[in-house]
Amino acid sequence: MNDLLYNKKVMCPVCNREIQVTKVKTKGCKVKARDTDMCVHYEDLNVLFYDVWVCENCGYAALQDKFEGLFTRDIAAIKDKISKNWVKRSFTGERDVDKAIEAFKLALLNLKVRNAKSSELAKVCLRIAWLYRDKEDTKKETEFLNFALNSYNDAYSKERFPLDKLDEFTCMYIIAELFRRVGKLDESIQWFSRIVASPQARSNPKLIDMARDQYQLAKDQLAEANA
Ligand SMILES: [Zn+2]
Repeated sequence: MNDLLYNKKVMCPVCNREIQVTKVKTKGCKVKARDTDMCVHYEDLNVLFYDVWVCENCGYAALQDKFEGLFTRDIAAIKDKISKNWVKRSFTGERDVDKAIEAFKLALLNLKVRNAKSSELAKVCLRIAWLYRDKEDTKKETEFLNFALNSYNDAYSKERFPLDKLDEFTCMYIIAELFRRVGKLDESIQWFSRIVASPQARSNPKLIDMARDQYQLAKDQLAEANA
């Protein structure tokens, strides 16, 4: 195994069996660059590949920081709708992009059978889009950017902020940028202008700067499209 990775034992909260999960060592998490939709690129390996843990015994899968803390009704739903049909397979060890996509799609399926909040679906869909970006599959990337966008939009109107660690203005920024990336420039411009015009958003100058840049970019793209 790559020496920036290590295995760790954890208990699966659904089947109560011990499993091995693979984590990235801190020295493997050096950031190289960030895309304008917050996708992080790393120096040595793609840390995102390891962000979903999967139980090989029962098919339970979740983002690692959400792996524990299930409700009793979630466990029942996963056992009934996933474990029953699960064919045992391991996700431990080094992953390539396809294995990572498989793990994330299992996490998404687990969220769906649990009737999870839109913000949780959005977070996983956005990461699946980033994995397809890594694979240079633009069609699938756009498909998952659209899923993420719809779920963030829904979360924005229905859920209470912060959405996990996501504050309101960062969520607005992501919605605006996803609209731009899927080519809905009018909507993108509206959302960016709401951030730029908001006095409260000024408490985060870095976000305002990014919003101004992307607002201008979306306006230029629209002008170009109409030329
Ligand atoms: Zn399990």
